[in-house]
Amino acid sequence: MSPPIYINGKYFSKEDAKISVYDHGLLYGDGVFEGMRTYSNKVFRLVEHIDRLYESARAILLTIPMTKQEMIDAVKKTVELSGLSDSYIRLVVTRGSGSLGLDPNRTSDPQVIIIVDLIALYDRKYYDEGLKIITASTIRNHPAALSPRIKSLNYLNNIMAKLEGLQAGCMEAIMLNHKGEVAECTGDNIFIVKKGQLLTPSADSGILEGITRNAILELATTLQIPARETTLTRHDLLVADECFLTGSAAEVIPVVCIDSRPIGDGKVGPTTKQLMIEFKKLVVR
Ligand code: PMP
Repeated sequence: MSPPIYINGKYFSKEDAKISVYDHGLLYGDGVFEGMRTYSNKVFRLVEHIDRLYESARAILLTIPMTKQEMIDAVKKTVELSGLSDSYIRLVVTRGSGSLGLDPNRTSDPQVIIIVDLIALYDRKYYDEGLKIITASTIRNHPAALSPRIKSLNYLNNIMAKLEGLQAGCMEAIMLNHKGEVAECTGDNIFIVKKGQLLTPSADSGILEGITRNAILELATTLQIPARETTLTRHDLLVADECFLTGSAAEVIPVVCIDSRPIGDGKVGPTTKQLMIEFKKLVVR
């Protein structure tokens, strides 16, 4: 039996967990979400995820019909009921159902949905051997159009780039920003290692400020690996010594080839390996 799904304070089986086809989350992608992980029954950086969810909601003038503490309690309860000790959590808040037409003021009852399930984004072998990825021609949303800092239900921008990757036989794709600089991947942040320095696009490169990304930057400080948020170009990636991606679902995953060119010696690099090991230790702490 699949774990019970939370909708607005009630629990449903997967088959019965349904919301209205008039919900603007479905009709217009009007809503926000979070993807989190549990390790040994504990949600990794739950407060940070809840803070980001409420910020995303605030940015689109969506009032979440419960306090942060109530949301935290609901997530914890749903995790407990799932019986899964290592899981993926999808927390969704929709605008609610309304009339046909964009006007968010003509909607009511935002739907708060919490799904706890298993996730395996990439095969185990890619964590050992590294991913091959491409640079997509689809650029990341212009921050003045739809800020990538909002984790909204409108992921078509990323899906268009993901399709390019898949059609080239790759499971991830790099997205540049409107200035032609490296932003992030379709569902992950990106890091490189160059001459012993860890580099990642800065928040103003038009990225979602990943919670895993922040954990890696903190780890780098602890491990005394020099790390910097900066502007990166595609050139910087192609001449990097190492590259890896981070995300709640992906965790830390190496990249060994970009646009058919090997990165460094084409093998998973030592700093990447070290951070993968240290990240594993951090999440179970
Ligand atoms: N960028 C994008 C576009 C994402 O969707 C995600 C989350 N899947 C990330 C980065 C990584 O963020 P986090 O580490 O908070 O999961």
